Parts: sequence; C-alpha cells; structure tokens
Amino acid sequence: MTKKRIALFGSTGSIGTQALEVIRANSDLFEAEILTAQTNDELLIQQALEFRPNAVVIGDEGKYQKVKSALAATDTKVFAGEQALVEAADFDTYDIMLAAIVGFAGLKPTLKAVDKGKTIALANKETLVVAGDIVMQRAIEKHVPILPVDSEHSAIFQCLVGEGRNRIEKIVLTASGGPFLGKKPNFLVNVKRDHALQHPNWSMGAKISIDSATLMNKGLEMIEAKWLFNLKPEQVQVVVHPQSIIHSMVQFEDGSMKAQMGLPDMKLPIQYAMGFPQRIKNDFPRLDFKKYPSLSFEEPDLKTFRNLALATEALYKGGNMPCILNAANEIAVWAFLRNRIGFLDITAVVEKTMQQVSFIAQPSLEEYFDSDGEARTFAASLIQM
Ligand code: NAD
Ligand code: MG
Repeated sequence: MTKKRIALFGSTGSIGTQALEVIRANSDLFEAEILTAQTNDELLIQQALEFRPNAVVIGDEGKYQKVKSALAATDTKVFAGEQALVEAADFDTYDIMLAAIVGFAGLKPTLKAVDKGKTIALANKETLVVAGDIVMQRAIEKHVPILPVDSEHSAIFQCLVGEGRNRIEKIVLTASGGPFLGKKPNFLVNVKRDHALQHPNWSMGAKISIDSATLMNKGLEMIEAKWLFNLKPEQVQVVVHPQSIIHSMVQFEDGSMKAQMGLPDMKLPIQYAMGFPQRIKNDFPRLDFKKYPSLSFEEPDLKTFRNLALATEALYKGGNMPCILNAANEIAVWAFLRNRIGFLDITAVVEKTMQQVSFIAQPSLEEYFDSDGEARTFAASLIQM
C-alpha cells in the first residue's frame, strides 16, 4: 500500500500536534507532505526537522528568514504569508488535507484543496459554519470526500458506515457542558480566562476551549452537522452528557439509535479520518464500563448559555447568519482571551452583531467574505479594540 501524503494545515496546534503523533506512530501508512503554522516558528522548525516535509508555510512573514535558515540544510521548501497557504493547498503532491487551522482563516486553503479534488479531513469546523453550502456543493462537484475530525461528527460518520440509503430521522450531538456546567449568570459574570480555559475532559486550543465553556462550540457543531450530513435544522439535537463517553448518536427512521463511544481522545477521530476506511490498530487506553457506572444526559441550559441559543437561531435562519455569528464570536473570544471583555460579554457582542449586519439569504462566496469583514468591524467597535 502506498503511503498517504498528508498536508497538515495548522500543524503546531492541538489537532496538528496530535495528528503528527498519529503519523509518527504509523510511518508505514502516512507521511507529512506539508506543514503550516501561523506564528510558532520554533515548533514548526522542530516538526520539519523530524518529519522532513516537502514544504512548510509560516503565516507570519516576519518569521520567514528564521525558518528558512533553520531548514537550509534540508530539502524542505519554505514559504510565508497568507497567500502561500492557498498556494500550498494547490500543490499536486499530497493526498489528504488535514484542515486544522482555527477559525475563518481555514476557509480559503480548504476551499482550494476541495477545488483541487483533494480528500479533506476536516477539523476546522468554522469552514462549514461560514460557507457550508458553497464548500459542500464544490465537494460534491469534485467528488471530494469531507471526512470529519470533530469527535461528534466523526461519531455520526462512524454510525453511518454501512447504512447506505437508510435515512436519518435525527442526530443527537453530545456536549460535555464544559467547565461551567450547572453554573448561573451570577457566577459566569466573574469568570476569568484561565478558569474558562480548563476543560474537564479535553485539552484543546484556546479558542475552542472558550467556545466549549460558552457552549458556542456546540452551536457551531450543529451548523457543521447540518452541512456534513445534509440535515434540516430540526433534525439536529443537543444533549449534555458530562462524561464525554458517547461522542454522538444517530437515530434512523425505524427509531433505532446508534452511538459511537470511547474515552475522549482526539487522536481516535484524527486517525479514523486519515485512515478511512481502514481502522488502524493502536494502544490508546481502552474504555472500561465499570469505571463509568452511570452515563448521564440532560437538557442544555439555553437561558444561561445563550450562545447556544444564538447559534441555533443562526442555524434556522441560514444565509450569512452563521457567518456573522462566527465572525463576532471570533472577535469576542479574542478579546476575552486578552481580558478586554468579560465572559458574558461574548454573548452580548455576538447578539448585537447578528442584529446589526445585513442579512443575505443566499450569499455568494464574496458576500460571505464581506459579511465576515463587516461583522468583525462591528464586533470590534463594540469592544473598542
Ligand atoms: P489551535 O489554536 O491549537 O491551533 C491552531 C493552528 O492553526 C495552529 O497551528 C496555528 O498556527 C494555526 N493558525 C492559527 N491562526 C491562523 C491563521 N490566521 N492563519 C493560518 N494558520 C493559523 O487550535 P486547535 O484546538 O488545534 O483547533 C483547530 C481546529 O480544529 C479548530 O477549528 C477547532 O474548532 C477544531 N477542533 C479542535 C479540537 C481539539 O481538540 N483541539 C476538537 C474538535 C475540533
Ligand atoms: Mg467537537
């Protein structure tokens, strides 16, 4: 079997570094063809020296010379800047793009890879939240598989294997509830960055950790699921399941439900997407049911975690509303991470931006970019950044 050549966009992040662990452990199956990072030049250099990719891209152009000299003795080509990311996505020399950039910045390179006919292992949920209709349409035209890496969507995808044309009645996305499960606004108003970054079950990048604490992450995942599995908004349900053992469920038209389970470890969905359709043997810790004598389920508290209500509203509204929601959220989370606004202000920024930016029912790609820009500018004006 020939090795799958992986273009790892966002190689220095939480998903990126775990994907490299999978590649390292399965060097007979995978090789790193392209690695990209935004600012972390040190780690990118270290990764390139170990994995010897064909090319690396450093987003921050000021760091080009440093990366270039560090890799001068190798065959690795070095590029820098936002445009270079899109150009690297256009390379012939890889098989799968693992889209692990965080945020809207992942959209352009991922779209380029789709247009190029490459298989996508998708961690970057924001790509589908912002422009899911366009991305999925182009993927269908190019016969490009979009294999989910997000654990919930991987769970649903795994439940669907072998189901052919059997129709989904609904899907149930499980949510851990994050670090503030059961808390009320009088507590949340004083929450600080470091506390919000501590997720009980998963170790993740900063932005998704905050999104998990506000439940925006689950809202983004509802929108992601709609596009990935071609669902109507009313077919997407969320249930809080604090143990994070059931990663999500599918209910079919006969009422039968399938769930995918396991200990929470992102390396599993990462390697499932990279290896699909093959399951790869590993020695990750196994789930022992005796250690989890009860699995519990509850309704999300939409009155306290209003981001999830706003995302649900955007899911139902469609058009550019999810794009507006996402842009405002990226700005608000950025500001919260820098202690510029409080935890509950994130919701206020998102809500006001959704009310402000003009709604477009069927945006073109350019209109998505414009809506993103407009929403960012307005959200930033609320924060006075
Ligand atoms: P992270 O912040 O740890 O890493 C992000 C990566 O993207 C880094 O390599 C960084 O250099 C790069 N990057 C950041 N900004 C960029 C920009 N403007 N242009 C180009 N590259 C940029 O994030 P993460 O936690 O690995 O998450 C990555 C994506 O995967 C997100 O969309 C997230 O929602 C999704 N995801 C993550 C997890 C997880 O467990 N971490 C789980 C499910 C889904
Ligand atoms: Mg997830």
